[in-house]
Amino acid sequence: MTQGHGLAEVFDDRESAVRSYVRSFPATFETGHQEFLVSTDGTRYLDFLAGAGALNYGHNPGFAKRALIAHLERDGLTHALDLATTAKRDFLEVFADHVLRPRGLDHKVQFCSPSGTNAVEAALKVARLVTGRTNVIAFGGGFHGMSTGALATVGAGFYKQGLRPTLGGVTHVPYPDSPMGPFDSLDLLDRLVGDPSSGVEKPAAVLLETVQCEGGVYVAPDAFLTGLRKWCDAHRVLLIVDDIQVGCGRTGAFFSFERAGVEPDLITLSKSISGFGLPMALLLLKPEYDVWKPGQHSGTFRGNQLAFVAAAEAIRAHWADGADPAFAAEVRRKGDLVADFLRREAVARFGARVRGRGLILGLDLSASGIAGAKVSRRCFERGLIVETCGRDSEVVKILPPLTVADISLVQGLEIIVEALHDEAEGARRTPVAAAS
Ligand code: PLP
Repeated sequence: MTQGHGLAEVFDDRESAVRSYVRSFPATFETGHQEFLVSTDGTRYLDFLAGAGALNYGHNPGFAKRALIAHLERDGLTHALDLATTAKRDFLEVFADHVLRPRGLDHKVQFCSPSGTNAVEAALKVARLVTGRTNVIAFGGGFHGMSTGALATVGAGFYKQGLRPTLGGVTHVPYPDSPMGPFDSLDLLDRLVGDPSSGVEKPAAVLLETVQCEGGVYVAPDAFLTGLRKWCDAHRVLLIVDDIQVGCGRTGAFFSFERAGVEPDLITLSKSISGFGLPMALLLLKPEYDVWKPGQHSGTFRGNQLAFVAAAEAIRAHWADGADPAFAAEVRRKGDLVADFLRREAVARFGARVRGRGLILGLDLSASGIAGAKVSRRCFERGLIVETCGRDSEVVKILPPLTVADISLVQGLEIIVEALHDEAEGARRTPVAAAS
């Protein structure tokens, strides 16, 4: 891998100031294959960003590419609103046979407008319609999308600047783990909801990620998830798990909550469900909560046929051998490999911490004195695309495609350790006054 250069001026001149990843990874990318991206100057980058979780099976996976090309060649539909089509039928059957039934789930499948945030909107609306209540409990550090309803549930103030008056109906509580340490969130919920004089309105739902990604890769303990399920049942509050980033195998099981044996009332899925990076978002609802009137949550792009074709192939190829498929075991093995490597090379040497499940791992640099954003930049210069997350970009977020080869994993991790080393050296050489 060599160093890549160059960004066409049109991005700076014409694209909105809201652009973000392009600023962190300034190359113009042209092709992608498996865990690699290639820029216009021929530089090959190892991709540990994986479309922010939308490319669990890598770039242009062959199993889906062939099916997509065949679909287009026979003039298969690409857009069909929410009409019945053969592609949608195939997806629904495959998803029920290989994902839902083996896990004892009988949820209905709602096709939403194609970005994750719209599935979150749908979940919030359903919870409010079912219970007749408006308040929703969400967690500090949580991330659920950018449309107004979903944004109200996001923890980070950055995204809410200037918008707060439009973002009501949510009570945030601390997540069971955060930069401030462990917290008894269930006890707080009891005090807020069990006490009629707490000043907090009884919620329609509790919305959470079982592993907070943008918040800094914090993992909710299994006991918290089982306790929360019981708490929701006791108070007749709906449990919504947002599995948009850590579903579809990321944590080493298809759904991230399987580890705790809980069954959410509503589940959001998007990102990697299409298997090819194609836009698609689902809300899974327990049948008794499927209270919609026809067309009540509508949208033009709920029927991306290419996404259905690729999604069915992705499930057939990776999830068709029972409730704990070989593919999931492989994700766990690779996750262990990454965690072991980082504990060996980064924890002792740099004072970093490692958190995560499966192949969502965070290397927390807050105690190391090394800036995550600088590590990410140095990695990019060495041909690795890896982003940061956390309150202040203090966590390097390791999110490779689940299909990544071991050799690429190790190569990427070595680049991260080299970057840490360079940054630690630089920090030692730079006097405090000059650094500020
Ligand atoms: N929920 C979670 C957990 C996410 O990570 C994201 C996006 O990163 C979203 C919701 C929003 O999805 P989208 O960006 O597709 O709207």
